[in-house]
Amino acid sequence: MNCLISLILGILVLAGTSYSQDDKYTSERETMVKQQIEYRGITNQPTLKAMTAVPRHKFVPSNLIDRAYDDSPLPIGYGQTISQPYIVAYMTAFINLKSGQKVLEIGTGSGYQAAVLSEIVKEVYTIEIITELNNSASKRLKDLGYKNVICKNADGYYGWKEFAPFDAIIVTAASEYIPPPLIKQLKDGGKMIIPVGSPFLNQTLILIEKEGEDITTTSLLPVRFVPFTRGN
Ligand code: SAH
Repeated sequence: MNCLISLILGILVLAGTSYSQDDKYTSERETMVKQQIEYRGITNQPTLKAMTAVPRHKFVPSNLIDRAYDDSPLPIGYGQTISQPYIVAYMTAFINLKSGQKVLEIGTGSGYQAAVLSEIVKEVYTIEIITELNNSASKRLKDLGYKNVICKNADGYYGWKEFAPFDAIIVTAASEYIPPPLIKQLKDGGKMIIPVGSPFLNQTLILIEKEGEDITTTSLLPVRFVPFTRGN
């Protein structure tokens, strides 16, 4: 009998130790997708799958790791933030991505949104204006094995002509107006999503759809993003 109790205790202890930190974050991530994203009406399957796959805790500063799956944006240094999970999912879902596509992101930040996009599409191009953030994000993405993300340190206002046109463009900093070069680099039939408005004040997430010469804009959601800044 004593032997049986020791055996059961032993199994319990083993089970306890094998529940690693990674399992903890996987479970927090599943809860995040269910409670913050699906519950608020996002049904786009590739987006839900990507948000379940990307280890968000590896994209936040180490002192904030326990808040990685909170329902909020978090500071990433240099006055910038990693967006709230719901906003990342919302923007990703709205541009309705398909697996073979090529996407441009402006505002790499931590690299999290780029990683989410790269789980869905073939190629992700991402531009960051702050050199230190570009360097840390590109190293992080490489270390995590995201081979289909190409990073560049530049002013994203001009887009990335060399790889244009893009099936979709996602801008993660708020601009007072839509940069014309980005509209130009959007494919015919392409979609762009961008927060437009004054820095730190009223901003609206705008969807832009390009059909030939026709550009349609739709206001989606009031948001608050860090400002789109300009290089010298
Ligand atoms: N997508 C990021 C969050 C971005 S915060 C993530 O998933 O973590 C917005 C980022 O846009 C900041 O890092 C900021 O430096 C960058 N940014 C602002 N203006 C820019 C510009 N003109 N070109 C490129 N990046 C810009």
